[in-house]
Amino acid sequence: MVSISFTQSLTSLTSHTSPFSFQSFTRKTQHRPSPSLRVTASNNSFDVVVVGGGIIGLTIARQFLTSSDLSVAVVDKAVPCSGATGAGQGYIWMTHKKPGSDVWDLTMRSHQLWHNLAESLNNEGLDPEELLGWRKTGSLLIGKTSQECVALKQKVHELSEAGLRAEYLSSADLFLKEPAVLVDDDSGAAFLPDDSQLDAHRAVAYIEKGNREFATQGRYAEFYHEPVTGLIRSDGRSNEVAGVQTLKHSLFGKKATIVAAGCWSGSLMHDLLKDCNISVDVPVKPRKGHLLVVENFDSFHLNHGIMEAGYADHQSASAQGSNVEERMLSISMTATMDTIGNLVLGSSREFAGFDTEADEFIICCIWERAAEFFPKLRDISLEDLIRNRKVRVGLRPYMPDGKPVIGSVPGLQNLYLAAGHEGGGLSMALGTAEMVSDMVLGKPSQVDSSTFGIKGRCC
Ligand SMILES: Cc1cc2nc3c(=O)[nH]c(=O)nc-3n(C[C@H](O)[C@H](O)[C@H](O)COP(=O)(O)OP(=O)(O)OC[C@H]3O[C@@H](n4cnc5c(N)ncnc54)[C@H](O)[C@@H]3O)c2cc1C
Repeated sequence: MVSISFTQSLTSLTSHTSPFSFQSFTRKTQHRPSPSLRVTASNNSFDVVVVGGGIIGLTIARQFLTSSDLSVAVVDKAVPCSGATGAGQGYIWMTHKKPGSDVWDLTMRSHQLWHNLAESLNNEGLDPEELLGWRKTGSLLIGKTSQECVALKQKVHELSEAGLRAEYLSSADLFLKEPAVLVDDDSGAAFLPDDSQLDAHRAVAYIEKGNREFATQGRYAEFYHEPVTGLIRSDGRSNEVAGVQTLKHSLFGKKATIVAAGCWSGSLMHDLLKDCNISVDVPVKPRKGHLLVVENFDSFHLNHGIMEAGYADHQSASAQGSNVEERMLSISMTATMDTIGNLVLGSSREFAGFDTEADEFIICCIWERAAEFFPKLRDISLEDLIRNRKVRVGLRPYMPDGKPVIGSVPGLQNLYLAAGHEGGGLSMALGTAEMVSDMVLGKPSQVDSSTFGIKGRCC
């Protein structure tokens, strides 16, 4: 069954027909292939092996490299940005988060670490905007009905109580801040001036480059286009994990093997553990998302990152208890402008297995939804749009209980899992990396990690 829900009523969007026909014009973003690096002298033996080179795996590698003297290998079945990370819009926002929720502390810590990174680049005379796509734009969570605005006022109150700078904007104030948005008397917004955004591709390139600087010291290597196929255990059958088998190599991790394989983590763990007599079922599912990027965009400018008020419900909508065949398609307006002036519009959520084909119907829905907030989009000619558009599709790693799973795997020594960040993996990456590294190194955690553990959730 296909059911479509929108976080606002979409009276104008009732059928497949649209002023824009997108058929057969989709171009997916091409991911730049990265050359692999090898550390041949170490005989494929490292302290830590990280499985998955998305934002979670790469930042975990970075954390070990920069905060310890351990050596690290990153293994990926493809290349970084080939998973969810490459589709990420890049908002590093608190505006849609709930103070006191399970992910609140981790997200706060992670944002602090992103801000610190951007600041340290500044202090070194480098440009975080160029290197990370980092911009402190602030965020606007926009309501279009009086009911939504009441909820936004409450949200501003809660966020302020939690120590964040937050302000409620009336429709007049919203118009002054963001003239491109269509406002009426019922409109309003929650405004968080300290929220930021980054560019996932730039941030990944920066982190990869930093990791590679450790290759010359024999502390880092990448094994791309190498799917992990099995676990290596000490003495063949003991409960101590000694590394992983790929199609081409045996890679040893003396201290830890960390599975950070996004939405593939569930099936991968199942395969890895099949001979271990250990029952761990990681219920992570792929949640497909589309983003529409309009390049060379000059119809209007966005001063902030923007999201519709219903986004939080759209993100947390659960597949629990629903028919597994149900697609649960939903679309919620998000809009950012990247550092080179591309308009980035999102986003969709649906359960469609591991399919990553772009769907023209969904792209139309995203466009139509955005045009309800930015009427000037309707003035763009079809030719211009087709010429300048790109579509990004990614599979968010969705956990039914709405929080990532980060921790050691019970019953097996030296095996850890860090996956299931759904729509917040870019935002939570640095905090997750710190948490994993602290666990492996036996350091006290900056944030209570017990809520993310595997026990009780996967076994
Ligand atoms: C449309 C969209 C918009 C988003 N916007 C935002 C946003 O604005 N802010 C935000 O914080 N988050 C956002 N996200 C979510 C964010 O992108 C994800 O949470 C994050 O990228 C997950 O990172 P990951 O490293 O866990 O997974 P991935 O990036 O999917 O990486 C997993 C990696 O594991 C590898 N792998 C899988 N199986 C194997 C195997 N057997 N062997 C070796 N390697 C393997 C894959 O090739 C892949 O590279 C968005 C996501 C989407 C789809």
